[in-house]
Order: sequence, then C-alpha cells, then structure tokens
Amino acid sequence: MNRPHREGLPATAAIRALREPLLRWYRRHRRDLPWRRTRDPYAIWVSEAMLQQTQVATVLPYYARFLDRFPDLFALAEATDDEVLARWSGLGYYRRASALRDGARAVVKHHGGAIPEDPALLLALPGIGRYTAGAVASLAFGREEPVLDGNVKRVFARLFALEDTSSAAATRRLWAIAAALVKGPDPGGLNQAVMELGATVCTPRAPRCADCPVSRRCAARAADRPEAYPEPRRTGTSVGVRVGVAVVERAGSILMERRRPDGALRGSWDLPSAEADGKRDAADALAWALSKRYGLRLRLGALSTSCTHAILQKRLRLEVFRGRSASRRALPEGLRWVPLADLDAVPVSGATRKVLRAVGLV
Ligand code: SF4
Repeated sequence: MNRPHREGLPATAAIRALREPLLRWYRRHRRDLPWRRTRDPYAIWVSEAMLQQTQVATVLPYYARFLDRFPDLFALAEATDDEVLARWSGLGYYRRASALRDGARAVVKHHGGAIPEDPALLLALPGIGRYTAGAVASLAFGREEPVLDGNVKRVFARLFALEDTSSAAATRRLWAIAAALVKGPDPGGLNQAVMELGATVCTPRAPRCADCPVSRRCAARAADRPEAYPEPRRTGTSVGVRVGVAVVERAGSILMERRRPDGALRGSWDLPSAEADGKRDAADALAWALSKRYGLRLRLGALSTSCTHAILQKRLRLEVFRGRSASRRALPEGLRWVPLADLDAVPVSGATRKVLRAVGLV
C-alpha cells in the first residue's frame, strides 16, 4: 500500500508497481471506442480535442460525423470556420474546433501534412497543450510521454493520498508521477488505463474500489476515505443571469446573429439575445440591444417559454420571445435569415439549440 505523501514524490518503485495491474485490467475491461481502434494520429487528435470537457457518450456521434466530413488532415486544413463549426455545433467550447483546424493548417505548412511524433513539435502547434501532445505521442506513436487530465489527477491523488492537485507544485508532482508511470512497454495503453480507471471506476463520487485493479496499493482506500482525495477546490458559486432570446421567423426562415469573433463561441450563429441587467428585464434588454446593435425595431410577443442553461460560471435563464417579420429589407451586417431546413448545418451554441428545441423548431 502506498503511504500518504503530503509533499515530495512517491517512491519510483511504488509508482512503477502500478503498471502491470493497470495494463492487465485495461486490456480486459476497456470500453470499445472508435478512437481506440486506430493509430491514425489525426483521428486520435480529433478525439482528444472533442473529449476535452466533454463526456464520451456526447462525443461519439460528433466524432463520426466530423471524420466523415473531414476524413484526413488535408480536408480539415482546407475547411472554413463555418464548415468546421457546423460539424462541431452542439459540442460546445468552439475554440477547440477552430484551433484544431488551425493546427491542421500548421501541420500542412510546416510538416508537409505529417503529424510529428516529437512532443516538442506537437506542442508548438496551435491548440495543442501538454496533455494533447502526450496523448497523441503515446497513443498514436507509442512514445513514453505522460498525460495528465482531471481523471488522472484524481486517481493519483487517491493512490498516493495527495490532497492538493491544483497548486503549481502539486501539478509538477503529478506530471512527474505520470512520467515515471508511463516509462515501459505500451505507454499508450498505460496512459489510457489510468484515464479509463478514473472515468469508469475511480469516479469523483462513490468510486468502485472493490473493482479497482490497484486497490491494494491505494492509500486513500486504506484510510477508508477515497472521496476525501483530492481536497475539493473552492470554486466561486455560479451566477444566475436572465437572458432574453428572440425567435423571429420569416417565411420558413429564422433570424440569427453572428457571435463576436473574440467570444468563446466565435464564428457561430445564434438566436439574437441580450442579458437583463439592473436597469432592464430580459424583454427590455433584448429590444434595446437589437435596436442599439442593428437599428432593428422588432415587435416581439409576450414571454413564450423559458429554459435554463449552464455555461462557465453562469446559470442562464433563457426567456424566449417570439415574433414574425414580413420585411424584405436587407439585414445589417451580423444578422441573417437562416432557412429552418438548413439549421442542422449551421454552427450554433448549445443554448440556442436548447431554445430551438423548446419552441419546436428542431
Ligand atoms: Fe480509486 Fe478506490 Fe482504486 Fe483507490 S482503490 S484508485 S480510490 S477506485
């Protein structure tokens, strides 16, 4: 059993003793996922980009559709923002999509289209951080490169009874554990084994220690306090925000607004919206924003429906106001009429998709 380590690095022997049971368990119990059936670095890179902050079950259909449309790096490198975002629409964190495409372009430009094996070269690509570089290098190329994501941190924190997983010193220590563990045969399998253990057995709440291949070596289990590690981070509470959303139709089309290029949802199209503030409720804020941004004076009905949506540190209450337009005038820059039949091909945020579902348009 590993002794608790409040500081310093656990003994290398204690780390390396985890390899065999982890690999054996992974070979028997791993989930059969499409990105595990390939060594194609491009497909693995796409899967890693999609899996950041996103559940496997959510990613599966997006992954298949994305690779269907962009089967190789060259196809992705040639794609426009709109084309990429259309296949990413609904998956959230849209910067990942643009960064992936920018990364593909850099590989074409600097490496002749061949994704490099060297993690230092991978790290130099747009959108690739230390985790993704380690994942692509180990999973696709069999390099002994570590990975560290939320699941891996939690597993290590429990195995070695580490309370702190967030400070700079703790992060260095966790990377060092991952680096010591990955050295040896099948580094890609080993990295995936730890991530899989965190995703399916050593879960944040109610870990299934009885099914864990390394339970005999786990300090948190020995102390009978697996959920005490790592110590929960004190996060700021999320803020509730009311948002007015306009659903305006015109002859089988719907009014949409392009998101600002600097926002988290850059390049996507969404229903026009505005946040209520101390001066204006959601309806007034919406009317005011449409008038100020576009000089539009739309006649919107009473509150039609509402739904909730969580994003970053905000809990949004989306209050939906519907309207119709018969105007034939050209729309100002930043607005467009999108035919309802084309909605599936337009990149929209999760919040917009939720509203469209709530009013029965998708
Ligand atoms: Fe996690 Fe329990 Fe396994 Fe320890 S024994 S690594 S707490 S599942």
